[in-house]
Amino acid sequence: MTALLEVQDLSRDFGGVRAVNQVDFQVQQGEIVALIGPNGAGKSTVLNMVSGVIPPSGGEIRFDTRPMTRVQGFEYAGLGITRTFQNLQTFDDMTVLENVMVGMHTKTRSSLFACGMNLGSARNEERKMVERAQDWLERVGLAEELSSLAGSLPYGKLRLMEIARAMVADPRLLLLDEPAAGLNHTETAEMSQMFQDIRKKGTAILLVEHDMDMIMTIADRIVVLDQGTKIAEGTPREIQENPRVIAAYLGG
Ligand code: ADP
Ligand code: MG
Repeated sequence: MTALLEVQDLSRDFGGVRAVNQVDFQVQQGEIVALIGPNGAGKSTVLNMVSGVIPPSGGEIRFDTRPMTRVQGFEYAGLGITRTFQNLQTFDDMTVLENVMVGMHTKTRSSLFACGMNLGSARNEERKMVERAQDWLERVGLAEELSSLAGSLPYGKLRLMEIARAMVADPRLLLLDEPAAGLNHTETAEMSQMFQDIRKKGTAILLVEHDMDMIMTIADRIVVLDQGTKIAEGTPREIQENPRVIAAYLGG
């Protein structure tokens, strides 16, 4: 079986500093893979390269066998890769619904242009977009807040709003950078359930997360980075028992 995402020998330098060093891993279709490691290990840098935010210094990233080297950042959503960021990227003076519809832009722009002067079908297209956004807001539990300004929402709800925004583009691979950061125990458990539902519908997830309960519950596989290098990979159980991981991370 070919992997959905294949990362091979991936490196990234910042100035003279190697942030990611020859990292290999794969994500299969419909799989949840967690990327863990201490602060500064290179986790966000890996996600930034996989999502086309920054180019690698070396190595290869293939999505559905396609080399991603020449793919432009704005093309990623259309190809099936969307993401959330470690820090919130919300528009406070826009409504929750509008914030989520931002996620559809890259995916639908061409079809809107294709409608040309046909206003009827353009309106129809727009109505479908709104319905999709509403549908995802319901699924993340924000149906009541559709018309609220994002700036008025508490932090935990904004995190959910960002997941809805990443999901409206109907990605095959969802990238999440510390989605549970700042959430309480109940919110984290609800989010874990949601990720499992997303996976059941066939979307693969690659997530960076510090919450060990969440990772041990939902991850099929875990990749451990330390100082830019992969030091271990395995099932949650294997990782929990790995002496190198315990020394570098869990015990630290
Ligand atoms: P993590 O997400 O695992 O905490 P990062 O990927 O954010 O780690 O960072 C890995 C290393 O790369 C750190 O030493 C960090 O300071 C460095 N780094 C990350 N982004 C940049 C950047 N844009 N410019 C310079 N150094 C960076
Ligand atoms: Mg990070």
